[in-house]
Amino acid sequence: TDGVVGEAGGETVELSSLSKRFGDEEAVDGVSLSISEGELLVLLGPSGCGKTTTLRMIAGLESVSGGSVAIGGVDVSEHPPQDRDVAMVFQNYALYPHKTVRENIRFPLRKTDLSKAEQRERIESTAALLDIADLLDKEPAALSGGQRQRVAIGRAIGREPSVLLMDEPLSNLDAKLRVRTRSELRSLQQRLGITTVYVTHDQEEAMSIADRIAIMNDGRVEQVGTPEEVYEDPTSAFIAGFLGDPSMNLLPTSVGPSRDGDTGGTERGDELAAGLAAAVPDDAARVGVRPEDLFLVDGSGSVVGDGPANVSDVYDCDVHVVEPIGRAYELTLSTAAGPVVLRARTVPDELRGRDRVGVVYDRDSLYAFDADGGRLRR
Ligand code: ATP
Repeated sequence: TDGVVGEAGGETVELSSLSKRFGDEEAVDGVSLSISEGELLVLLGPSGCGKTTTLRMIAGLESVSGGSVAIGGVDVSEHPPQDRDVAMVFQNYALYPHKTVRENIRFPLRKTDLSKAEQRERIESTAALLDIADLLDKEPAALSGGQRQRVAIGRAIGREPSVLLMDEPLSNLDAKLRVRTRSELRSLQQRLGITTVYVTHDQEEAMSIADRIAIMNDGRVEQVGTPEEVYEDPTSAFIAGFLGDPSMNLLPTSVGPSRDGDTGGTERGDELAAGLAAAVPDDAARVGVRPEDLFLVDGSGSVVGDGPANVSDVYDCDVHVVEPIGRAYELTLSTAAGPVVLRARTVPDELRGRDRVGVVYDRDSLYAFDADGGRLRR
C-alpha cells in the first residue's frame, strides 16, 4: 500500500575531493565517497569534524570550496538546492507551526507539477506510509516529538526525492523513542529505496542503521566500511577508540617491565598492562583491547562465561569500580598504564565485592597501533 510514494528509487551520490573552507579553517578537507543507489550511508564523527558541512554541500545549502558533488552521475556542484532532487530533514524538524500536518506535507509539493488531486493523493499515501493519517488536520504543537519527526520525514519524502539527507534527525527524541524510530526509519528507507546520507555523532545509532559508515575526523574521512568492518577492523587508534561502548582500551606499551623479559616485582595490574604490551609487535606504541575481550577468572581458576579459544595467562588486577549497566557489568581495573575497562555478562557471587580479581584476555583480539595512531598488523 505504498501508493504513489515508493516508486522514486534512489540515485548515486559521488563526492570527489569535496572541500569547504571557512576563513582559514578547512572544515571539510578532501572528502571522497561513492554512495550507491538506495544505500544508507552514515557520516559519523565527533563534534566539529565536518559532518553537517558535508551534508549541506550535498544539499546545495553551502557552496563548495573545492571538489564536486555528483547526483545520478550529474555534477550538481553549482546547482541550487531545488534543482538537486534532494530533501533534507533537520534535527529541529523545522515544521510550520501554524500549518496543519496536511499543509506542512503539501508545502514542498506546490512547486512540483502535480495537480491538486495528485497532491492530495500523495499526501494521503505519505501519511499512510508513516502512520500519521489520523494527524493530518492537527498542528505541530498538538503532536508528540516522535509524531513531529514523522511529519518532517513525510514532508521530505512526499516529493519523492532521489536522495534523502538527514542531520541528527532523532536527537530531539527521548532514548526509548529514538531506538524505536530509528528502526522504523531504516525500514521505511529500505522500502522506498531512497539513497540516504545520515549524520550523527551517536555511534550506536550509526551501527544500527547504516549500510556503511564513513567516520570523519578533522574534516577528513578516516575510514569507511560496513558497521562490522569499522568495528572489527579499525584502521587507526582514532577509529578504534571512537567505536564501541565502552570503547576500546588503548594502553601505551611503554609501561611495565616485561618487555625486557623482567616480570619480577611489579604492582598488581601492572602485569596486565605489561602482558598486553609484550603481546604486540615491538614497534607498537599502543595496544588495544576491547572491554568484552577481557574476562574474569573465578576462584577455581576457570574463565567466567564464554571465554576465548586462545586465552592469555591469568593476571591479578585491582578492581577500582564495578558498575552494573543493564544486563552486563563494567569493571574498571587499575593498571600502571591507566584504568582498563572489562565488560562481563555476569559476575559470579564469589567475585562480588572483591577488590582483586583474576583477569585474562583473548590473545586473538588485540590491536596494535604505531606512534601516529596507524594500525599495525602482524
Ligand atoms: P556537530 O556534530 O557539532 O554539528 P559537525 O561534525 O557537523 O559538528 P560542522 O558543523 O560541519 O561539524 O563544522 C565543521 C567546522 O566548521 C567546525 O569547526 C565549525 O565551527 C566550522 N563551521 C561550520 N559552519 C561554519 C560557518 N558557517 N562559518 C564558519 N565556520 C563554520
